[in-house]
Amino acid sequence: MTQPAPPQRPCKMTPMFEQYFAIKDEYPDALLFYRMGDFYELFFNDAEIAARELQIALTSRNSQAEQPVPMCGVPHHAVENYLNQLLEKGYHVAICEQIEDPKAAKGLVKRAVTIVRTPGTAVEDASLAAKAHNYLGALYWDGEKGAGGFAWLEFSTGEWSGLFSKKESELWQWVQKMQPRELLLPDLPADVFRIPQSISLGSSTPVRLPVRSYFDYKTASQRVLKAQGIQELGAVGLHDKEELTRACGALLGYLVQTQKQELSHLAPFKPLHLSRHLIIDEITERNLEIFRRLDGKKGLGTLWQVVDETLTPMGGRLLEERLRHPWRELAPIQETQEAVNYFLQQTHQRSALRAGLHSVYDLERLSTRILLGRSTPKDFVALRESLSALTAVENALKTPAPGTYPTQEDELGTQHPPLVQRLMQQWDSMEDAQALLQNSVVDSPPPTITDGGLFKPGYSAQLDELADLVEHGEQRLQKLLEHEQQIHSLPRLKLGFNRVFGYFLELSKSGSPEVPTHFIRKQTVANAERYITPALKELEENILAAGEKRKALEYRLFQELRQQVIAQRPRVLFMAGVLATLDLIQGLAEVAHKKRWVCPVVHEGTDLTIKQGRHPVVEQMVGPSAFIANDLFMDEKRRLILITGPNMAGKSTVLRQAAIIALLAQTGSFVPAAEASIGLCDRIFSRVGASDNLAQGQSTFMVEMMETARILRQATKKSLVILDEIGRGTSTFDGLSLAWAVVEDLLRRGDGSIRTLFATHYHELTALEGRLPGLHNMNIAIREYNGEILFMRRLVPGPSDRSYGIEVARLAGVPQPVVNRAKKVLELLEKNQKARGKTDSDAAMQQLLPGMESTLPIKEEPELLPPAQEEVAHPLCTALHNLDTNTLTPMQALTLLNEWKTLWGVTKS
Ligand code: ADP
Repeated sequence: MTQPAPPQRPCKMTPMFEQYFAIKDEYPDALLFYRMGDFYELFFNDAEIAARELQIALTSRNSQAEQPVPMCGVPHHAVENYLNQLLEKGYHVAICEQIEDPKAAKGLVKRAVTIVRTPGTAVEDASLAAKAHNYLGALYWDGEKGAGGFAWLEFSTGEWSGLFSKKESELWQWVQKMQPRELLLPDLPADVFRIPQSISLGSSTPVRLPVRSYFDYKTASQRVLKAQGIQELGAVGLHDKEELTRACGALLGYLVQTQKQELSHLAPFKPLHLSRHLIIDEITERNLEIFRRLDGKKGLGTLWQVVDETLTPMGGRLLEERLRHPWRELAPIQETQEAVNYFLQQTHQRSALRAGLHSVYDLERLSTRILLGRSTPKDFVALRESLSALTAVENALKTPAPGTYPTQEDELGTQHPPLVQRLMQQWDSMEDAQALLQNSVVDSPPPTITDGGLFKPGYSAQLDELADLVEHGEQRLQKLLEHEQQIHSLPRLKLGFNRVFGYFLELSKSGSPEVPTHFIRKQTVANAERYITPALKELEENILAAGEKRKALEYRLFQELRQQVIAQRPRVLFMAGVLATLDLIQGLAEVAHKKRWVCPVVHEGTDLTIKQGRHPVVEQMVGPSAFIANDLFMDEKRRLILITGPNMAGKSTVLRQAAIIALLAQTGSFVPAAEASIGLCDRIFSRVGASDNLAQGQSTFMVEMMETARILRQATKKSLVILDEIGRGTSTFDGLSLAWAVVEDLLRRGDGSIRTLFATHYHELTALEGRLPGLHNMNIAIREYNGEILFMRRLVPGPSDRSYGIEVARLAGVPQPVVNRAKKVLELLEKNQKARGKTDSDAAMQQLLPGMESTLPIKEEPELLPPAQEEVAHPLCTALHNLDTNTLTPMQALTLLNEWKTLWGVTKS
């Protein structure tokens, strides 16, 4: 996204451009959509950006200046589509409307910005993914105090939350996890506050805001108190969290600044209590491919996609939230499990419930749009249908099993598990609101309120009368004519219209008819006289004015209806929450049913047993019949399981599936296994050796070590650590030593060893079994058959016998001569090892374990090693080596640089 540059002002400006610049100056960072009649026009740089991004024609307007002004425009009725495209790309758009009636305006029509649309404050469905949150975030860090806060808000639903921390890195970790669409940051000098280099903001756009007007504590506190309608910050848990309050204040300030209206739709602020949730940092989220695949894409290949059988946007968003913050406490997990199990067993209720939920739209976002005055008539119909579905959903919960009659328990819902019972006891079928919308809005309303035709006949007698006049005016005139014809026996009386005096009654002169006394003569033509009557004129006026009157009345009625619906917002939101929970539970039951998942036992201990566990995503990819399930057992004696096996054997899969099963279990979901018992985890860490983060200028190995460091500092006895090929990113001995030391540290923690699954290709580590208590070797079985290797995908006890790297290389298509040569080199290396009378691991042990250093001299076997390349230094290196930078002038440096560029700067293709 390129921010618009300040426009070049023409030296001589028309009043229109004077007005344009006065407004544009206030919104330098936004594209200004300037309303002119039926179009929104953009000028100068804004026009160039919009034309390029929206692929629309760039024209020009002569501003009476020397240069024509670049310009482009979009029709107002199609503006949403264009706005979405710009928001998607991260732009801010200031919408400048005509704020007075152009017909009534004297001179230039008054204009003002009525809203600034930004990606983080979207409420329109087209700009939002239905089942995902779209957060606006704000971060404040006080370096001197060593405290900070990160708050996030979903404007389209009004939910908001945040956390206070004394660790800046923790706040940034949460920024990366929550991925707010826009991140508000204090505009402070870089030496006071800056985004750490290691942080990738991904799709979050940073927005710098002045500290005084946005992050000031006093203003922030007042904003929070006002928005929440409370007297004390303690009411929303912010009393002792100054920095978090500042972040909340920035969010509220930004909303007022962009939305140009008071905020009355925010739910009570709920600070995130880390102690109540299983913490999964953003790297673990990424490695386990919970929301996105490793390539960053959403959808197929993610855990979210496999586990999502919800039918409503609210249910989908609740599932997203649960996967992001699973529980750490037994009670909510077990309560959810019980409810999931109920719907798994009661298939008839589950299918009736699913049928009911099908017609529920996004109650939360609909209600917000209506409240903010950003709704379309269709939103009212969607709300009506969703409210009607409440009855269907309630009935579904009382559906008796097929072939049986409803019992009293069915009716009372007492056979339901406690969670569902609670939801049913609080049920509000909102029949009054349903009836209101049922009686008012037509089934297929017009796209905008100004188009008319929104209300059903019978809703307002006055409106019906006006509609009749508009739609059947001609018939009314005909009736009046017929009436006059009959009463006064004037069969030849005709109705006509002319521009001068409108409708008239015409009477032919032939036969000298008697003219009724109330006829007022208006015109004489060749063979006839033209009259008007008071009744005709009144009808005519009513017909002509009916169109405008109807529009005005419809608008008034619409506003009244809107206010009535707004008054119901707390009830709507409450029921949205109830439906979200029911949807989540039935969705989890549906997955459990379709994929044969089981209910895990969750407990406060630290043992972990998984029988016949499966990786739900890999299983989906390879097909259930091709997936090999595996058992895993961890207890005090097996705290760290070291998994060896060749590449492609299935080590990562078995590791990740354990983490995914634990995570699912703590959301209350069933899990892909035949049996599972999970000791609750406080954190799950998943790290893969040498993952790339080059975009942030860090070497892969550096990233790997930073992540390892974080685990070693943060993991506790209750954590589950998944380490996949740690130490891979450096030389063999460095890597082995590091992996070794990490294993030791994980096993020898002060508060007991940390549950760890450690996959490695360093066979040497397997020798630690028996020497370090808690370490247990396992490997993924391989069979050799006719010189080929077969992947058995089975996790079995013991270390793997060797690495099979060459066989895997052959499978991967490495040319046969290279494979043969590799085998030869390996053979010779092994022979050499034997000649020294030591195994691989013994040798390593000697080198690595204190006091076990080798005393045997290592025999040089020069002929076994690949022929050494003769090293010749590149001439550029020699030149650089010989250069004396202390005596070099800038001019000489430049000349040299130029010379070298000519000599070696061209890449050979
Ligand atoms: P490693 O980590 O040992 O290199 P992976 O876990 O990445 O191996 O597995 C490689 C591939 O093998 C996976 O992408 C998957 O297609 C297949 N695979 C792994 N585990 C299983 C299994 N249990 N059943 C069936 N296929 C599996």
